[in-house]
This record gives sequence, structure tokens and C-alpha cells, in this order.
Amino acid sequence: MSTHEQPAAPGQCSRRSVVRGTVAVAGGVLLGGAVDLGLAAPVHAGPAGFPVYNRKEWGARPYRRRAQVLDNGPTHIVVHHTATANSTNYSKEHAFELSRSIQRYHMRANRWDDTGQHLTISRGGVVMEGRNGTLPAIRRGGHVLGAHTANHNSHTIGIENEGTYTSALPTTELLNALVETCAWLCVAYGLNPSLAIVGHRDYNATACPGDQLYAMLPQLRTDVGARLARLETRLAQLGAEDIAEEQWPSYPDVPTGERSVPFEHGPGIGHDDLTL
Ligand SMILES: [Zn+2]
Repeated sequence: MSTHEQPAAPGQCSRRSVVRGTVAVAGGVLLGGAVDLGLAAPVHAGPAGFPVYNRKEWGARPYRRRAQVLDNGPTHIVVHHTATANSTNYSKEHAFELSRSIQRYHMRANRWDDTGQHLTISRGGVVMEGRNGTLPAIRRGGHVLGAHTANHNSHTIGIENEGTYTSALPTTELLNALVETCAWLCVAYGLNPSLAIVGHRDYNATACPGDQLYAMLPQLRTDVGARLARLETRLAQLGAEDIAEEQWPSYPDVPTGERSVPFEHGPGIGHDDLTL
């Protein structure tokens, strides 16, 4: 992540007071209005800012049942890898096909109602909506019940990052887009990046998101915090809420030698989720 901005000074972003609902003011199918809030768009710079492509744009098939929307926003952002090939096709068309193939797999093989994750980022840095209703819910500060982290779907928003990062590293384009996406979500939901950003393995026994990407999460938290620091003046105007320490996930053992199968990144639905 050497191309990223310098980390914030020690402690600068810890216990950051953050804001709930800010993004709602922006509207549009952008990164929740990140452009309006001053977040840079290093990858997708342009008149449309940093776009999140919606389901219609990537050609989603109809869902079986409309996703359940919860009033309370998520407490954590879960970083996944797709356990697919580390493609060198960075085009938007490839990214759209990735979203379609994940949805196909989740609906056919897993028999889920729709694609499981909320957001998908390709190795080219293309950010896409996942489960139906995700973008409208984020804009309202609500939460679509997904299928990506077993027993924790009611309070976590899941980002699928294209690739397998057990030994390889993500592309700079993907990492930049992940920083922007996490910053957007932190603003939308009033989350502190140093506490809110976790890996799938923090909740479930899985190798996801791979040792390499998982090892980058501290830097990701720092980079997102630095991005948010640019907004400090605006954020300070809008109230504050921290995540309770009790909401911090536990850390189960990570299995070694887990098989890598496309779209099988570990437990996506658990018993607790089914009781919702
Ligand atoms: Zn995962």
C-alpha cells in the first residue's frame, strides 16, 4: 500500500468520533456522496466521482425474495476475498461478469435468495452493489440482511474483493477502491475504522480474506482513518457515536490448508442468522 497516503499520526484516528447518516444528504448512486464530502476519487476520477455500479448496470438477475432491511446500520465492515483467480483483466466488463457469476453461484449452488455480499470490488477497482436494496439502505442508514458472515449478518456489511490472497497481494486499484468504500461506509454509518474494519476470519473459522489481505487490514484502517481525517471539520459538526468495546469480535483459530474454491470463502449463513 505504498501508494497510499501517509498514515495518520499515532492516536489521531483512535476513538474517532464519527457520524451517522451523513451520506444520506448526498443521494445518487455514488459513493454515498463521498465526493460531496470531499473524499478524493483517485481511481475513478471524473464528473461522476467514484461510482458504485448498481445491480441494473452489472446485469443482476432478479432475486428470489426481497432482502430484509433492518433499521439499525451495521457495527462492522467485513473484508472478504472471493477465492477466485487473480485476474489481470481489469475492465469494467470483467467486473460486471464477476458480479453476475457470484450471484449465479450464490443462487444456484448455495440456494440463497440473492447474491450474499453487499458490495463487490474487482481487481480493477470497480465497485459494485451486491444484494438487492443495499445502496438505498446505505443512503438511509439502514442495513440489508446479507449472507456473508455466519451468525453475524445482522450487524455486518460484507465486501467481496476479487481474488485469492493467501499468498498474492491485491492490486493497488483494488486497495484504493477498498479504502474509498470503507471510508464511505464509515461516514454513512458513523463507524470508527480502527474498530469497525475486520476480516471474515475474525468471526468465522475460515482462511478468508487470505493471510496477505488480512495482514493489510491494520494499514487499511489507518488509510481509511486518514481519509476521514480530511473531513474532521465537517464530521465534528454532525454528532458522534463510538462502537462499544463489547461489540469487538472474538478471534477464533484460523484453519490452515483450507481448500480454495471459487465463491466458497467460508461460512456465510449460520444458525443465529436463520432465527432473525
Ligand atoms: Zn469471506
